[in-house]
Amino acid sequence: MEMNLGTMCVQAGYRPGNGEPREIPIIQSTTFRYETGEDMAKLFDLEANGYFYTRLQNPTNDMVAAKIASLEGGTAAMLTSSGQAANFFSVFNIAQAGDHVVSSASIYGGTYNLFNVTMRKMGVEFTFVSPDASEEDLAAAFRPNTKAVFGETIANPALTVLDIERFARAAHEHGVPLIIDNTFATPVNCRPFEWGADIVTHSTTKYMDGHGAAVGGAIVDSGRFDWMAHADKFPGLCTPDDSYHGITYAEKFGMAGAFITKATAQLMRDFGSIQSPQNAFLLNLGLESLHVRMKRHCENGLAVAEYLKSDPRITFVTYPGLPGDPYYETAKKYMPDGTCGVVSFGIKGGREAASLFMKSLKIAAIETHVADARTCCLHPASTTHRQLTDEELLAGGISADLVRFSCGLEDAEDLIADIRQALDAACGPME
Ligand code: PLP
Repeated sequence: MEMNLGTMCVQAGYRPGNGEPREIPIIQSTTFRYETGEDMAKLFDLEANGYFYTRLQNPTNDMVAAKIASLEGGTAAMLTSSGQAANFFSVFNIAQAGDHVVSSASIYGGTYNLFNVTMRKMGVEFTFVSPDASEEDLAAAFRPNTKAVFGETIANPALTVLDIERFARAAHEHGVPLIIDNTFATPVNCRPFEWGADIVTHSTTKYMDGHGAAVGGAIVDSGRFDWMAHADKFPGLCTPDDSYHGITYAEKFGMAGAFITKATAQLMRDFGSIQSPQNAFLLNLGLESLHVRMKRHCENGLAVAEYLKSDPRITFVTYPGLPGDPYYETAKKYMPDGTCGVVSFGIKGGREAASLFMKSLKIAAIETHVADARTCCLHPASTTHRQLTDEELLAGGISADLVRFSCGLEDAEDLIADIRQALDAACGPME
């Protein structure tokens, strides 16, 4: 039966049979028993569906992945041990040494490091483009060996909003897929496949789990990218895999299943970055209320952004859901129901005032985290980026007074009162 998004959050991915547990069972088992070697051989040959070792696949994970696939409108999905693993797999599944990828420069710092340092060492080159790149600038970034385009719906921490349609057009004109990290928006607020993206990734550690309980990631395939039509670019999908009994993934599993099957059969087998079934269970609890929580995160984000805009002790406010924000119109197009709960702002008095402000908060906690039920915040200049001078910070797009504030699920008036009293302590009361 057709389900709306909220119903999918609660029910998709698992339907118990008569007398079976109502809640998703945690299959806490590394291995699975078979009657005959032939039965198991069929699994190894990818001739039959089933499980043989949890380093590659686990039934609990697959139920939760199926829910995320439904939410994104994809054909197949897999869970990974973290968002980092999801982004690594999504790119490495189609780009190898000697290949090239075009990526938005406005992405999470961990992903930037993965691409610019670690994957470069593995021989994959990246060209970083502005999230606002014109069609011409985007076209100029491609090379004959480009295999994918990558971007974040709402970038962490810059809060830029990607013009997904423009990036998808550029990718498709060059015969490669667009991979979108949809962590901050979640499928509740944006479904990138509806705008032309081909693969979606998530750090499920953020809003999807939503309670700061379980690190995890997910990859979803739209099933719409025709690998065989660009077979010369994607030999890993379109020619026999010697490490898997000569299977050609795109032929055997078609557009709907090739990408995720290959990532499971090769990358999970070799890297083993599986999410634990326990974490998948916790993730599912989070997903069951995702549609309810996102609404509240967005309401709180907007209320806090509006308050900050009116306080003269604030030097700037960045929130794509706030009228006047440079990304407001793009956000309205891709996320008409709301963006996320993360707001960033600057405080008069620079690094010192921002540091004092942070110390004075009573409800919001200082954490290297975002997208949690409990409001948390970070002052990069005095924590994650403390070794940098003000000038070096600015060169990286972060001002010394910038605070990243992730609105949780508390009452907006309490969050605003907390910010107001901390500003009184840091900058003196308003005249
Ligand atoms: N993608 C985005 C947008 C993120 O914000 C993060 C983490 O903050 C990641 C990926 C990495 O996810 P994880 O910490 O689950 O590895």
